[in-house]
Amino acid sequence: MLRFGCFVFAALALFSNQAAAQATISHCLAAPQFASHLTVALDSMNLSEVQAINTDIAQHCASTLSPDIDVIADAATLFTFIHRRSNGDSAQQSFNRLLQKDFSSLSRQQQAAYYHLMALYSLHTGEYKQALSISHIISTELLPAAVNAADDMAAINLAVADIHYEIEFYQSVRELLLPLLTHPAHYIRVRAASLLWHIPQTQQQLADTLAVLDDYSALPQTLVKLHALEALVRQALEENDQPAAQALLEEAYLLAEALDAKAVLIRLYLLETDNPPSPHAVEQLLAFSANQLSLKEQLPVLKLEVERATVSQNWQQATATLQQALALNQELARNNALAREYAGFQMVSQARELEQARQQSRLQALAAEQQNQQRLIYLLALVSAILALAVLTLLFVKKRKAAVHFEKLANTDGLTQVLNRRAIQLFARQVADRSKQLGQPFVVALADIDHFKTINDTYGHDAGDIVLTEFARRTNTLIRQQDRLGRWGGEEWLIIMTNTRLDAVDGLFSRMQEEIRDITAGEHKLTVTFSMGAVAGNGEQSVEALVQAADELLYQAKQSGRNRLCKGGG
Ligand code: GH3
Ligand code: MG
Ligand code: MG
Repeated sequence: MLRFGCFVFAALALFSNQAAAQATISHCLAAPQFASHLTVALDSMNLSEVQAINTDIAQHCASTLSPDIDVIADAATLFTFIHRRSNGDSAQQSFNRLLQKDFSSLSRQQQAAYYHLMALYSLHTGEYKQALSISHIISTELLPAAVNAADDMAAINLAVADIHYEIEFYQSVRELLLPLLTHPAHYIRVRAASLLWHIPQTQQQLADTLAVLDDYSALPQTLVKLHALEALVRQALEENDQPAAQALLEEAYLLAEALDAKAVLIRLYLLETDNPPSPHAVEQLLAFSANQLSLKEQLPVLKLEVERATVSQNWQQATATLQQALALNQELARNNALAREYAGFQMVSQARELEQARQQSRLQALAAEQQNQQRLIYLLALVSAILALAVLTLLFVKKRKAAVHFEKLANTDGLTQVLNRRAIQLFARQVADRSKQLGQPFVVALADIDHFKTINDTYGHDAGDIVLTEFARRTNTLIRQQDRLGRWGGEEWLIIMTNTRLDAVDGLFSRMQEEIRDITAGEHKLTVTFSMGAVAGNGEQSVEALVQAADELLYQAKQSGRNRLCKGGG
């Protein structure tokens, strides 16, 4: 079946039921009032009302014609021509005048409606490029501004879809119209469905459009209803439901004739030239003049003319008409290709702009994200640095503690907790060095517990340990802070008295005797004595030599009866 759907929808969305109730105007209104009447009539596709406005302007406003009213009259003329195909010459003049006009001061709805009409007229006359330039204005200037106005959007989408349908840019038509199938206004749903019915992509889309179209009878007697009926006729024919098709066709013819909607009539006649061709429809079509038909409509009519000439054996006319048809076919193909290319370019450039905007926002988001990440990285680095520092400090402190601990362990006698032999020897060397530097005397005293072996043997080893421990603890309470006691070995002790002259050792010795004499080990009260040998040093002699000398003096003390001090040297 041939599909030549020159679906001509006017733009603008207001209230269709208002339009249906529109009264005929009997005097010249101000331009804004006319504009609002026309807007409503165009939006609801109320052909009679549009025609009435035009007539009113012509009859009542001749003396007060203003440029604004001029525009309204021209728009109404274009609409009437597009749907009625009458007054072709004045339509061309109206179009030319509108082309000179600047619509920018008009409302968005009016602009969209007028541009839409101009685009449809351009398509009718084969000026595809012009139609697309106009549709470009709608989609680039009006559409973005209408994004938040749902009714404006619906009207603009319908207008652009109408133009794109004409150039067979069906994907765009679907994108524009599918959302409108659920629009709250019935007549907008039907307008979208009437066009979408021709180009469904899926069974579901077809079912959705039919569901909307089935409600057509509730609509007022306007072109919206007629277009729905037309789609339903075609649907019945496709389903091969002849009775339904016939009934719908009759209803459609009645309404089309009542509205004098020639554009729809042309399409219905064309439908009836398919097999079997209706002679009445052919006659009706051949009666139209070329400028009443759009380029697309002219082609099948030319074919009918060829057939008629062939039947009447008028070969010359048949050949000439065929040539004309071929040329027209080529022009249409060229137009469509050009239009699609142009529309594609528009889409591409729009898509590119959109993509650039998206890219921009993506980049901004990315930059923000990077900034956040950077901040996070800094924060993490800071936290890890602090943690690392804390761990290092902890480790350092631990290590230091351990080192101190180990050092202490290494320098301390396990039983008595005083310096061990190595440590007291080291201390003695340091004191000797300092003594040499400062010229200060110091004392090296070696003490040995008397008859210690007997204590061990008599009271046990543990008692011996207690004596050793107590000897160390008590002696430590007697020596000064700067002096040191060390365990030299067994029950022998080395005492280093810094910055001290030898005679000071007598006092220490007698205090020690006093302090150490009574030691309790378990239940045993022991009397403990010790002997001591002491020498003075001044840094000249080695520590070993001094200890050796002290040991000799200790030996003397032992020899001379124990529990006494022997001093020697300076
Ligand atoms: P003198 O008066 O001549 O010094 O006689 P002494 O018995 O004290 O001397 P000797 O050297 O004969 O005995 C020292 C004893 O000290 C021998 C050893 O068993 C004991 N001894 C050494 N180290 C320890 C120790 O850590 N604990 C105990 N309980 N005894 C120890
Ligand atoms: Mg000894
Ligand atoms: Mg001893």
